[in-house]
Amino acid sequence: MMARKQARPEASQEVVLEPIQITCRACGNRMRMARHSQRMVTTLQGVTHLTLKVYRCSNADCPRFRQVTRPEEEGQWAITTWRICAGCHCSGRGAALSGVA
Ligand SMILES: [Zn+2]
Repeated sequence: MMARKQARPEASQEVVLEPIQITCRACGNRMRMARHSQRMVTTLQGVTHLTLKVYRCSNADCPRFRQVTRPEEEGQWAITTWRICAGCHCSGRGAALSGVA
């Protein structure tokens, strides 16, 4: 929702991820942001700096009290990285992606 993509000349980019749902799935309260989590993900386009907004429920009566919720998109980034590495054998080139069947 608040994802911001910024392309830079040196082919590295910065992406901010935020959970799509920031209401607690247990009690329905709006969660508060707990912290920022930083991650570096390497893709064919270069190195992407991910900033993940981690939320948690602040309702002391909630079973999910203090349990963190991380952005759903974080998993997609992990999957994408894995798929690219599996296809190109980490050669750093994009050519293998079109050739593999
Ligand atoms: Zn809750």
